[in-house]
Amino acid sequence: MGQSVLTASGFARTASGELVCEGVSLETIAEAVGTPVYVYSSRAIREQFDALDRALAPVPHRLHYSMKANSNLTLLRVLRERGAGLDIVSGGELFRAREAGYSADSIVFSGVGKSEQELREALGADILMFNVESFFELEQLNAVAKSMGKRAPIALRVNPEVRVNTPHHYTRTGERGNKFGIPIDEALEAARRALAMPNLLLRGLDMHIGSQVFQLEPYRDGLDRLLDLYSQLRAIGASEIRYLDIGGGFAVTYEDEAPMDLDALAAALLPKIRKSGLSLIVEPGRFIVGNAGVLLARVMHRKRAGGKEYLISDAGMNDLVRPSHYDAYHAVEAVHARDTRSIVDVVGPVCESGDFFALDREVEDVDAGDLIVIRTTGAYGYVMSFNYNARPRVAEVLVDGDRFAVVTRRESYEDLVRLESQPLEWRTD
Ligand SMILES: *Cc1c(COP(=O)(O)O)cnc(C)c1O
Repeated sequence: MGQSVLTASGFARTASGELVCEGVSLETIAEAVGTPVYVYSSRAIREQFDALDRALAPVPHRLHYSMKANSNLTLLRVLRERGAGLDIVSGGELFRAREAGYSADSIVFSGVGKSEQELREALGADILMFNVESFFELEQLNAVAKSMGKRAPIALRVNPEVRVNTPHHYTRTGERGNKFGIPIDEALEAARRALAMPNLLLRGLDMHIGSQVFQLEPYRDGLDRLLDLYSQLRAIGASEIRYLDIGGGFAVTYEDEAPMDLDALAAALLPKIRKSGLSLIVEPGRFIVGNAGVLLARVMHRKRAGGKEYLISDAGMNDLVRPSHYDAYHAVEAVHARDTRSIVDVVGPVCESGDFFALDREVEDVDAGDLIVIRTTGAYGYVMSFNYNARPRVAEVLVDGDRFAVVTRRESYEDLVRLESQPLEWRTD
């Protein structure tokens, strides 16, 4: 049986062994919308949001969903109805956020390289806060704010230089020697400069230590460093700091890992935050949507070559790049459970050896035409997809109880060439 240990409530097996999303058969969705297609459970998204919200309830807090994990407008609206704010990393995300109805004051803007135009757009909209990552950005934002006759509210994103253990080194951002944030030993100086800039308003301290983080220790140690910095800042007259942003990164279950223990996290952090009198901000992305989504695909054929067996699915690395980009593990399950299993490579049709979802994995014996799901793909799935091999980007479907809707239509061939000019307008200046 394709038993799954995955925790999200949105997907379950019926008595006959069929994987369904809430009250909707994945078979029905595949028939109506085609494959490959991302399928999301709105219930699972709401439950994750609510669980985190409950765990943080003992202190004043704000949940700013990190929309780069999945920025679908309908998903954003589901979260807005729950009371979420957003963490954005680009002008394009600001645009999407506004399209989804978020008020500017529910938005914080992170990112290691913000363009002047992006700063202008966000400041013009009156967002809650800029998470500033460098001395350069302090100067730049101060100048932009001055030219607009405004004061920009900021938090300093500090790199607390804690040891973080994530599945891949690409997803560690809070250790010494990476591009993110202001090194902890320069943070006091950065704050001094910010306090001296007339068009900045220092409202918070911020960190984001990595993604898919299981342990509490890096959060606890990072928080201690931020709080230590906070008392030094108070001593030099910083009086407007209200927010302590501990970033996102809370882990979800891909295989059989224990997910982030929210109660333990709360117990480790909240007493310190309460004592500081500051409001807590968190920026979870993956935690909210990761397990709420699957990539539903069809097996095109099975192939034996060089002593190995391959399952070739109609989804490819361009639809889900995490296995190839991060060596990420994603569970692969048959929609209709099978009793027998074999060891196979699950691959896609793209002309790249890196086009795989699972290597030497024991999976259920599915045949050509059968449906499979690649699980825990609600985060960093569709948003990282691309058009390599001129493959149209897939559709996204949201399930709500016993109904479903296409929330992003599948791209057409025409969409693939829409932005390319013809006839050409040659110019020399
Ligand atoms: C990506 C990112 C997040 C969210 O990370 P998750 O691992 O998806 O929770 C939060 N804050 C910042 C600044 C980020 O870049």
